Amino acid sequence: MSYKTCPRRYYYERIYPLPQLRYADFEVGNYLHNYFYSALKGEVEIIDANEIWEKIKGDSIPISAKDLEDNFQDMDDMISYYSSLSDKIILWREEKDYVEKIKNGIENSMKIAKVLDLNDFNVEKWMYAKIDDFLIYGRFDIMSENDIFELKTGGEREDYYLQLAFYALIFYLKNYIIPRGKLVYLQNGKIIDVKFNFNELSEIMEDVIKVLEGIKKENFPANKSENCKFCPYRFICDY
Ligand code: SF4
Repeated sequence: MSYKTCPRRYYYERIYPLPQLRYADFEVGNYLHNYFYSALKGEVEIIDANEIWEKIKGDSIPISAKDLEDNFQDMDDMISYYSSLSDKIILWREEKDYVEKIKNGIENSMKIAKVLDLNDFNVEKWMYAKIDDFLIYGRFDIMSENDIFELKTGGEREDYYLQLAFYALIFYLKNYIIPRGKLVYLQNGKIIDVKFNFNELSEIMEDVIKVLEGIKKENFPANKSENCKFCPYRFICDY
């Protein structure tokens, strides 16, 4: 998926890996995923969103993503700067917005878990399939028999359909069964049914093969998009 979003960034990430940073959106998303899994098992209680946010921040110092430096002399300079951020947590919005996001996510988790009423399911399960010499894989948020669920803790986005379709392809290649998909949005409480058919999965497969061939041929073109403004490699990218 990351090659499809931007082949050039996929290349940079492998050649110049950056130190792992703490991103508030990621940590809040992670927390809400786990909260939702517990809600499905009926194991949660209402928790104060402010307290959760404080716990997520921990001892890290909040820093706004807008204040991150983006003008580096070279790659070493950039890597050393990112290493210096190990005691920080990076925020893309105000702290109160994260509290609100946690609060919404908790409330909707309870409601959605009740509607789905799943008994037999697995969470965060890895599944692998082979196409030619390549292994494709994905971590499925929730799987219940032939249903696959993709959990989203932010707003609705069209490309989430593609992500789910990619997982549906892996599921099909592994089990020879076309799964039913569901996109679950914890912020607005929506559950969107996504149906796949054989022709759609064949198209996704062709797309995946093109991507795999691109990687094999070391073809990494830049894909200029709105993602560029969040890309740490933009200072060396000729997009
Ligand atoms: S700046 Fe944009 S085009 Fe360049 S690598 Fe990053 S995401 Fe890709």
